This record gives sequence, C-alpha cells and structure tokens, in this order.
Amino acid sequence: MAHSLFLLPGDGIGTEIMAEVEKIIAWLNSQGETDFTLDTGLAGGAAYDAHGVAISEEDMQKALAADAVIFGAVGGPKWDNVPYEHRPEAALLRLRKELGVFANLRPAICYPALADASSLKRELVEGLDILIVRELTGGVYFGEPKQIIDLGNGQKRAIDTQVYETYEIDRIARVAFDLARTRKNKVHSADKKNVMKSGVFWDEVVRSVGKEYPDVQLNHILADNAAMQLVRNPKQFDVMVTDNLFGDILSDVAAMLTGSLGMLPSASLGAPDPVSGKRKAFYEPVHGSAPDIAGKGIANPIAMVASFAMALRYSFGMIELANRVEAAISAVLADGLRTGDIAQDNRRTVGTEEMGAAILGKL
Ligand code: ATP
Ligand code: MG
Repeated sequence: MAHSLFLLPGDGIGTEIMAEVEKIIAWLNSQGETDFTLDTGLAGGAAYDAHGVAISEEDMQKALAADAVIFGAVGGPKWDNVPYEHRPEAALLRLRKELGVFANLRPAICYPALADASSLKRELVEGLDILIVRELTGGVYFGEPKQIIDLGNGQKRAIDTQVYETYEIDRIARVAFDLARTRKNKVHSADKKNVMKSGVFWDEVVRSVGKEYPDVQLNHILADNAAMQLVRNPKQFDVMVTDNLFGDILSDVAAMLTGSLGMLPSASLGAPDPVSGKRKAFYEPVHGSAPDIAGKGIANPIAMVASFAMALRYSFGMIELANRVEAAISAVLADGLRTGDIAQDNRRTVGTEEMGAAILGKL
C-alpha cells in the first residue's frame, strides 16, 4: 500500500531545503524503493499571504489524513505585524496540537567529520548518538492556573503550574522504552524528584512502566545532573526521557554537542491508533526559517533530509533505508563538502542544491 506524505515547506529556507528532500523522494519512488504519494500545502507566512490564516482548513485536514507530515520552517520579518492569531508560528502550534504529537524525539548525532565543530573536545563527542525524548503537550507549559495576579499593594504574583497525569507519563515512558529496544536497551529518566512532587510522580510512573521492560536498563537522573553530565561525558547516555520543560533545555544542550543547528532533525509522534496501530507523526528540522540567509541558496539541507530519514524509520519502519540516508549524509561530510554554517578550513563550501545532489549521489 502506498504511504502518504504531506509536505509543508513553509517560509524562508523551508522551501529551499524541502526541495532537496522532494528530489530524494522522487528518486526513491522512481527506483521502486518507496511508494510515496506526495501532496504539498502552505503553512505560516505563505499560507497567510494566500488565505489570510497560518494554515488553511483544507491543509489541516490533509495533515491529519497523511501517514506523516514533513514540515520545513515558518516565519520571517515580512509577517512581523500580522494579527497574533495568524502569526506564522500559529501553524506549527495548531499542527502539533491537532495531531496530538506528545512525544518529541531529538537525536543528537555527531558525525565524525564534524567532531571538531562541537562545543566539546573531539574525544568526548566523536561517535555520539543520543536520543532525547521530550514530553511535548503537558507539564508547566500548559498547566492551569497560569496567571499574573495583581495583589493590589504594588506587588504581583506569577503562577505557572506543572501538571502531569498518569496516562501522560505512561505513554511517553513507553515511547522511550520502545525506542531503547531498537537501540542499546538503556533509558535515563530525568526529573527533579528531590524538590518537586511532579518529579516524584514522574519517577513512580516511569518505574512502573519500566517493570514491563525488564530487558531495558532504567536509570534515574536528576535533571540538573543530566545537564552537567551531558557536557562532561555525553556518551554515557543513549535514550533520555524527560518532561516538557527539562526536555526543552536538555535537548538544546545536547544539540550543541553536535556542531550546527543546520544538522539537527526532529520527530514528534502521537499515540498509536487503537485499530491500525499507526501513529500521527510530524517531522521537522530543529532550526527555523533563517530569514538572514533565505533566498540565497546557501542553507544547509541536512537537518531536513535527516528529518525525512526519521520519517522512514519511525513512520514506515524502513530502517535500512533510513540508515542509508544517514550514511549518505555522513559520506558527503567525510568527502569534505560543507555548507556555510558548518564550513571549516580547507573544505569545499557548497550551496543547498549541491549538498542535496551530493547526498542523492551517495544514495
Ligand atoms: P525560530 O524562532 O524559528 O527558531 P530562530 O531565529 O531562532 O528561528 P533560525 O531561523 O533557526 O533561528 O536561525 C538561527 C541562525 O542559524 C541564523 O543565523 C540562521 O541563518 C542559521 N541557520 C539556521 N538553520 C540553518 C540552516 N539549515 N543552514 C544554515 N544556517 C542556518
Ligand atoms: Mg529559535
């Protein structure tokens, strides 16, 4: 059966880097390696210009119906003054919410050829391959009450509320344990149970899920220690699962171990459908629309291509093909090809199209 992909290139470099992924998909289809049906929509500023909203109802329905959504990036100075509810980022928030993608997977992979571009010494990061699993739809980002109260005596009080229910922790823990089984059978769960009730609860639920995965080694780590260990000895980790806030911070720390923003993919997964077992899924590079370099043809397409590789792996079970795409990325880097963001002395600096073509050539 054909697999359906819905592409939302978005704005700025989003359209430039998505074009390279489209070429890869077209080639894979032409070789009979894949059987993807493709549809493309508008998101962010591009949708606002066409329809006056950040994403049209029609495109929203297509996103909900697709096997996987591949998203570029949205935003740019052109849309700084559009009404708040139609700002480009609204498309992203609406897509995440309506797709119900609660599990955000951010791999931090250090390609050997780029080990010197890391914030850490080569020996600490060479061969690094860790996966941060961040809870994306709960916690202090959404918990109520969330307000600033005027106390009337010249003082105010601000409140954010960390809220997690059993099912929310249970399902994100299962994602992490299932992923660990496809990797090194090792999970670190990070929280602050020494000071937070929600941390005590997080640990309790993760441990109880862990009992169903006796083959996976579960380690507890305090989130502050996790931050320290990530820059002290990152290779001790494989899968790390944590809540929305700690995941936001820890995944950014992990990201900087790998070199450039232009290298980092992400996947966001929903709950499996009770009948088909399929998960809604949303794949996007970690970086934004990079207005400063948009239209120049110099953006690094690797994060976008690597996001597509994650789609192959996590939505379609095409593990071998995903590995080949990642190996192709590694091979062009080993050949010395660099886009501007990862440029090093004595390496050949290429544009978006040339980098995309080189990856396709390796494939
Ligand atoms: P957002 O708010 O959407 O996250 P941002 O302003 O935080 O966006 P980006 O748009 O990701 O950040 O850009 C940050 C910097 O990184 C910019 O200087 C941009 O040019 C650079 N950058 C981001 N992505 C790439 C890429 N794929 N290739 C080259 N440079 C990039
Ligand atoms: Mg940003």
